[in-house]
Amino acid sequence: MRPGDAAGLPVADRFGRRIHDLRVSVTDRCNFRCTYCMPREVFGPGFRFLPRAELLTFEEITRLVALLIPEGVRKVRLTGGEPLLRRDLDRLVAQLAGLEGIDDLTLTTNGSLLERHAAPLAAAGLRRITVSLDSLDDAVFARLNDVAVPVATVLAGIAAAERAGLAPIKVNMVVRRGVNEESILPMARHFRERGHILRFIEYMDVGTTNGWRLDEVVPMEEIVARIDAELPLEPVPAAYLGEVAGRFRYRDGSGEIGVIASVTRPFCGDCTRLRLTAEGELYTCLFGGTGHDLRGPLRAGEDDAALRARVRAIWAAREDRYSELRAAGVATGPRVEMSQIGG
Ligand code: SAM
Ligand code: SF4
Ligand code: SF4
Repeated sequence: MRPGDAAGLPVADRFGRRIHDLRVSVTDRCNFRCTYCMPREVFGPGFRFLPRAELLTFEEITRLVALLIPEGVRKVRLTGGEPLLRRDLDRLVAQLAGLEGIDDLTLTTNGSLLERHAAPLAAAGLRRITVSLDSLDDAVFARLNDVAVPVATVLAGIAAAERAGLAPIKVNMVVRRGVNEESILPMARHFRERGHILRFIEYMDVGTTNGWRLDEVVPMEEIVARIDAELPLEPVPAAYLGEVAGRFRYRDGSGEIGVIASVTRPFCGDCTRLRLTAEGELYTCLFGGTGHDLRGPLRAGEDDAALRARVRAIWAAREDRYSELRAAGVATGPRVEMSQIGG
């Protein structure tokens, strides 16, 4: 038995949920300006990103991840901002891959720099990868990411990930009404043929800068119906508690899709995710208003036991269920930006 596996050992929050997944943001910077995440009007030339000294070092990240394993962490996802902008990321991957107790080590990227990074990341011990791509049409893609990166660059990154043996490859597509809903079917056809798992994400009201409106959300039901009309689908039961994507498989056995329906089907009841920002703040919810600083105590010399006690206290007090409250029409308050917390 590994530490943290015993019943009752990892701490439960106010609703009985235990820590399982950790998302680590390694940078707040990005080379895209997705309108739903880092709109250029806000994240323009005047925006102050974190200076390097404020970022956790790889050694600090690895130490924090290691001490969270006894608290229940089994799955680690590296994210950002754009994680591949962080220099020598494969060195961090190698350090994390060496930790006993992590069953799943993965990364979410916009794919623009993946072609040259896929092989070194796989060699360092990355096992699988998620690539975000919102359309196969260059004009639509550009309307979403607000930069001139061609779709072909991202597809070349995905191909490199395939060659490097990163599997399964998941592709995340945020769907925004009036912008890319016509890309749903072409994306489904394309990735079904290649055996990758396409996951549609309902456009969410993360942060306060994207000007989110409910009528821009394309609900899960509509996404599934659009695909089902041409490529018949059936639901698949969740693989594990806390799985956020609703899963559907093609009835002809040619693979599956997922839909992350945090707006129309909130899944707070099973939410086992903890998030660490690039500057070392812990957030217990994607829609959190305030983080809990770990970098300060860590740099002040606090030992592992004291840091673990901090995390346990933070998790024990957790009562987040933002998406459920939003669905009930009562969600309010300031929210952290997606580019800080990494999705
Ligand atoms: N830059 C990397 C990328 O885009 O894959 C990693 C960080 S990004 C914040 C992580 C995921 O969050 C991406 O798949 C992105 O599409 C998604 N995302 C960002 N803003 C979102 C929003 N407002 N609603 C839904 N998903 C969003
Ligand atoms: Fe960058 Fe990812 Fe946010 Fe797009 S979604 S702006 S690629 S961090
Ligand atoms: Fe978890 Fe917060 Fe999302 Fe609910 S809203 S599923 S608590 S991250």
